[in-house]
Amino acid sequence: MKKSLVIIGGGEAGTYTLEALIKKGPEIFKQFDITLLKREKRGSASICAVPPALQGIFRMDEVVELENPKYFIDHGIDYRTETEATKIDLEGKSVNLSTGEKIKYDYLVIGTGREPRIPKIEGKDLEGVYTFSTIEDGERIEAAMKDSEAKNAVVIGGGSIGIQTAIAFLKKELKTKVVVGHSAPLSSMLDPDMGSIVRESLEKEGLEFIFGKDFSINGDRRVKSVIAGEDKIPADIVVISRGMLPNSDLAKKAGIEIGETGGIATDQYMHVKKNRKYIKDVYALGDCSEVIDGITLRPRLSQLASTALVQAKVIADNLVGINSSFEPCLSPTVATISNFQVGSIGLTSDIAERYCIKIISEKKEKPTKPRFYHGRKSMVVKLLFDAYSKKLIGAQIISEDMVADRIDGLGIAIKKGMTAKELSKMEKSFDPCVSLHRDVIIDVAEEAIR
Ligand SMILES: Cc1cc2nc3c(=O)[nH]c(=O)nc-3n(C[C@H](O)[C@H](O)[C@H](O)COP(=O)(O)OP(=O)(O)OC[C@H]3O[C@@H](n4cnc5c(N)ncnc54)[C@H](O)[C@@H]3O)c2cc1C
Repeated sequence: MKKSLVIIGGGEAGTYTLEALIKKGPEIFKQFDITLLKREKRGSASICAVPPALQGIFRMDEVVELENPKYFIDHGIDYRTETEATKIDLEGKSVNLSTGEKIKYDYLVIGTGREPRIPKIEGKDLEGVYTFSTIEDGERIEAAMKDSEAKNAVVIGGGSIGIQTAIAFLKKELKTKVVVGHSAPLSSMLDPDMGSIVRESLEKEGLEFIFGKDFSINGDRRVKSVIAGEDKIPADIVVISRGMLPNSDLAKKAGIEIGETGGIATDQYMHVKKNRKYIKDVYALGDCSEVIDGITLRPRLSQLASTALVQAKVIADNLVGINSSFEPCLSPTVATISNFQVGSIGLTSDIAERYCIKIISEKKEKPTKPRFYHGRKSMVVKLLFDAYSKKLIGAQIISEDMVADRIDGLGIAIKKGMTAKELSKMEKSFDPCVSLHRDVIIDVAEEAIR
């Protein structure tokens, strides 16, 4: 008999789960009746593409056009938009819907996502103040920055989404300031010395930074200014971009255990737990769930599409009876920041210190191609090694050249437990048109040994 599978959430987590199941072949539909529930009116598009779309790198309508759910409906999936799950009954194995209906499940997947972290301050609800978590938020911000009346923009938060949004404003010739709570931007990805390189470069492009945690938003009906420290900054648009919280309330109300990060705690198979017992037919993934860090082995959040993609494959495998587990993860991250790519994997110095991990770190800037290659680019690499084991535990790279592949390669090195010595002797491909025979990563590893 067919089993009923209900997926709550039609963001990237829910969508990747559907895709991973469809990839199993048509047999999957003989095994399961699949229902997906989501609050939004539309299907799912990649939110990751929206900040670059605001900068004009992609067209917003081309990003949004991907969200047609027809593909899933054609596969026979009961794809329900504008439908909220209001209650999960784990004992009765059912979900209550906003439509008044109650649906039964044999298997349940929870992918309820995130919500923006909004400080409880006056002014946050004024007209002209935005958060940036959904495609609709992106569309609202795009409309606001195209308004000819808008002259001044303030972004509160110096993470990659905030900085990419600020660059979009700058490109629209808005006077733009970023209020950053740490000593340098991109603090979740980069150490302050690396973040300062990004800051200096963006300052040259006209972006202004204000450092400090305290701020307020002022206006009557519409926003007029932001006060940050001593500065009163005129503002026609304000974007609050101070990180995301897991949207785990629905699960929590059902008695599902929430971890110390606020995300749903799961085992390696992505099963949720209640009363310290894992439930074999209920899974959670994506931004609403927490992961185990691949180095500290402590719980943390990894609110990335790339994380959700792997988790979805694990869930799809387990649903069809293939034993599969989601390993402690390193969360490789890369972001296009103006002309740079900024990449990071593993621990930053700050996180290492938080977990009392003594580190040796080395940093170097070097071109990526020989001196006779015209237009060659430079690359700054910082590597972090555990001071006792000498193993690589973190990497940060900034360059106008390709960063993502190197970060992914260093991720394998971290997973394999490579030491500085092993990294320094790593064989690297060489062609003068694409690389140096003494690559900057090898130099940094050698320096760390010294
Ligand atoms: C602006 C931006 C840029 C990003 N860029 C990148 C990037 O470049 N690379 C990268 O790896 N990651 C990036 N991320 C992170 C990545 O987008 C997320 O990790 C990913 O979208 C997680 O998807 P999700 O489905 O878990 O969550 P969400 O996208 O939040 O989806 C949650 C879904 O659950 C639904 N839902 C919630 N509660 C209920 C309920 N009770 N009933 C029914 N439905 C419900 C919602 O309607 C929604 O459909 C970015 C995020 C943002 C905001």
